[in-house]
Amino acid sequence: MKFLKADWVLTCDDEFSIIKDGGVVFEDKIVDINCASVLEEKYSNLDVEYCGKNSVLMPGLINSHVHLEFSGNKTTLKYGNFLDWLTSVIENREELIEKATEDLIDSELKAMLKTGTTSIGAISSYGFDMSSCIKTDMNVVYFTEVIGSKPDMIDTLFVDFKAKLESTKQNCSTNFIPAIAIHSPYSVHPFLIREVLKIAKENDMPVSAHFQESKSENDWLNYNKGSFISFFKNFLQQTTAVTKPNEFLSQFKGIENLSFTHCVEANAKELEQIKDMNATIIHCPKSNRLLNNTSLNLNYLDDISLAMGTDGLSSNNSLSLFDEMQSALFIHRTNDINDLSKRLLTASTNGGAKALGLNKGQVAKGKDADLISFSLPDTCSEEDIATAVILHTKQVDKTYIQGKHIELS
Ligand SMILES: [Zn+2]
Repeated sequence: MKFLKADWVLTCDDEFSIIKDGGVVFEDKIVDINCASVLEEKYSNLDVEYCGKNSVLMPGLINSHVHLEFSGNKTTLKYGNFLDWLTSVIENREELIEKATEDLIDSELKAMLKTGTTSIGAISSYGFDMSSCIKTDMNVVYFTEVIGSKPDMIDTLFVDFKAKLESTKQNCSTNFIPAIAIHSPYSVHPFLIREVLKIAKENDMPVSAHFQESKSENDWLNYNKGSFISFFKNFLQQTTAVTKPNEFLSQFKGIENLSFTHCVEANAKELEQIKDMNATIIHCPKSNRLLNNTSLNLNYLDDISLAMGTDGLSSNNSLSLFDEMQSALFIHRTNDINDLSKRLLTASTNGGAKALGLNKGQVAKGKDADLISFSLPDTCSEEDIATAVILHTKQVDKTYIQGKHIELS
């Protein structure tokens, strides 16, 4: 058993409980959590490791939505307009995929560990990131993605999807968990959606989909108009959307660990459907800023569970969740800073665990001992600590995953 103590323990539970001068006792799971002085008496046989002056101990971060296969992009893709970006992805896809070698993906995963991430939801379009995701120390929920809206291609795409999914199932382990992603309502035929969701239910797999990411998407899905018209005509010879947003959402009923990424254009009715299914919204604020110049209205979400993601380097300049949270502080300008910081930290831990179906994301008895520690540059009040953590943390000092110390080389 191991015993860590820190000046602050952020539990990231539903109440965002904070313990000053706290301690955590753990093996692969968390055994006990309390004031350090109480634990020192109770576990007097254990060596206590102090995390240092102004130290913070908290659950490892969960990046619920990332596309590692697009790690090769730095300055190639176009930002500012969703359709221009999408067109630039299609034009440069081959070149970008080639650049995202196993070595590059390995180094991005290491950089994520250094910045406090211990679990990811990796959306895989091709399976080229699989060996990196299997060998990393991080927990990976690996989403095999299905895409394709042309009726004559459906059978081939479904066979290809099943083969990719099967290879993930063969590599399934405690920290490599197969899952299913549906690209979006505009790009996947309802038949394919129905069939892959059947597989997800049979295998009790987490499911995720992009949803209502841009105004173009909303205009197309609801009204068959807007800038998607020419895109679909040119690339896919389609003049109407394959599904309506409400029909799309209703297909996901009964999935236990369900998440929808972006949702910046989702209307009240769609948000209600998401809430009724007990699904999570994954918020990627930097990607939304870069591609659409839109932001999710957090005040509209009611009590829908929230998680955080960086999206890929195709629509971000960093895969660090601390960077993502810091940007979110400046994007959501009308929200109280300390309340928002607590919400973002909870979304990046507890919320991510719900989205991905992991027994993690909180410092609580019985949860997996995925822990990070780091030190703030100075003393801080309890009231301001969540904001201070987001503003002043770039890298972490210590990382444990399922109780195992991870070298951050
Ligand atoms: Zn995405």
